[in-house]
Amino acid sequence: MPIQQESMFTTRDIQATDAAHHLHPFTNTGALNAKGARVISKGEGVWLWDTEGNKILDGMAGLWCVNMGYGRQELVDAAAQQMQQLPYYNTFFQTTHAPATALAQEIASVTPGDLNRIFFAGSGSEAVDTMIRLVRHYWSVVGKPYRNIIISRENGYHGSTIGGASLGGMKGMHAQGGPMVPNIEHIRQPYWYGEAGDMNEEAFGKACAQALEDRILQVGPDNVAAFVGEPVQGAGGVIVPPANYWREIQAICRKYGILLVADEVICGFGRTGSWFGSQTLGIEPDLITMAKGLSSGYLPIAAVAMSDRVADALIAHDEDFNHGFTYSGHPTAAAVALENIRLMKAENIVDYVGTDIGPYFQQQLRATLAEHPLVGHIEGVGLMAGMALVQDKASRTPFPEDANAGLVCRDHCFENGLIMRAVGDRMVLAPPLVISRSEVDELCEKARHCFDLTLASLKQSE
Ligand code: PMP
Repeated sequence: MPIQQESMFTTRDIQATDAAHHLHPFTNTGALNAKGARVISKGEGVWLWDTEGNKILDGMAGLWCVNMGYGRQELVDAAAQQMQQLPYYNTFFQTTHAPATALAQEIASVTPGDLNRIFFAGSGSEAVDTMIRLVRHYWSVVGKPYRNIIISRENGYHGSTIGGASLGGMKGMHAQGGPMVPNIEHIRQPYWYGEAGDMNEEAFGKACAQALEDRILQVGPDNVAAFVGEPVQGAGGVIVPPANYWREIQAICRKYGILLVADEVICGFGRTGSWFGSQTLGIEPDLITMAKGLSSGYLPIAAVAMSDRVADALIAHDEDFNHGFTYSGHPTAAAVALENIRLMKAENIVDYVGTDIGPYFQQQLRATLAEHPLVGHIEGVGLMAGMALVQDKASRTPFPEDANAGLVCRDHCFENGLIMRAVGDRMVLAPPLVISRSEVDELCEKARHCFDLTLASLKQSE
């Protein structure tokens, strides 16, 4: 019998078991155990409930993934049917199955350009690791094995496996569990509000792209395999690059014959108002990594899509690609992803984000919060946004680190029925794509109330 957590266990039982046996990701588990984790038990649409009966607006779509919202019976049915017919089989040894092939075809049809071939993985991190091995292997099979340096950005996020953590530009991650994977270089991030000084957006965009060319020349153009970036940085705090940034980056990649990889684990599947962030930001990538919104988070599945140029070279090379996961192309996860894409199309969700709810969300956020004394800056696209909390708006003076402004704000949100994530002192939102206008209004009102409470708390502790 399935575990009915609500009826069989009290919140305290679950918290005690959690404290005794669970090591939480990206968490100071000792500190968490002292207060007890909040226990989430149910979801419907954009709403969550905890075991204490509190109703919470999920402004983060889980972890940027529950794009079609909670409680979609169609996805449940797709999983149940596939589990009955063939719950699992692999695609390693001269076999395949319809869910994997149909999903590969479907992904190829929604990705931009000629990204027609798909490698499946179980998570965004696995997709990123696959991409690292794949682009290095690509250069090897075309006779340039020395092209093995991959360039990415400071404060980029590309996952938690050793490859993903190495490729990402998170200092806190590099500091643990190393040494990191060699031959990965990081350049500055295009964070205009926080790092441009007096430069206007265009000059800053150009300078950040120039950093790529400078690094390529420094390490030797013939040694570089690929440049990897998120179209819009997500876990780094929702940072939208200046409008010219990707055009300049792309031109530099082409100039030196370097593969351009878009890590679309967050931006993919409608988040920015197009199927892929690459389309919104004007990028023509050679490879795309994707996960999360592919199945709306209902089951773990991820993929790397590659261009014909890359795929043809790998396929022409008469040797096994020595890489794969037990769950590559998992039939049940693939069936759910297929149904998820069918639902997205049937409900016209990408258009809804691009032309209706995305612009409405961006406008309402600004109308409600831009004038708030705490909010230094709001940036975002589609249904993702980041807001910088500052001590002084005019001079962009941040709060002292030990004020923990972001965490204070996050806790007020949680206490008041709204999930917003804090990345340092940037507050981040990425609600399910199915959010309605009235729910956006409610989200903004809750956010304003919580920002007021945050301001009061920060003043009190000054
Ligand atoms: N790449 C990006 C851009 C991500 O945002 C994430 C996760 N937030 C990952 C990779 C890693 O995905 P996962 O957590 O599924 O391994």
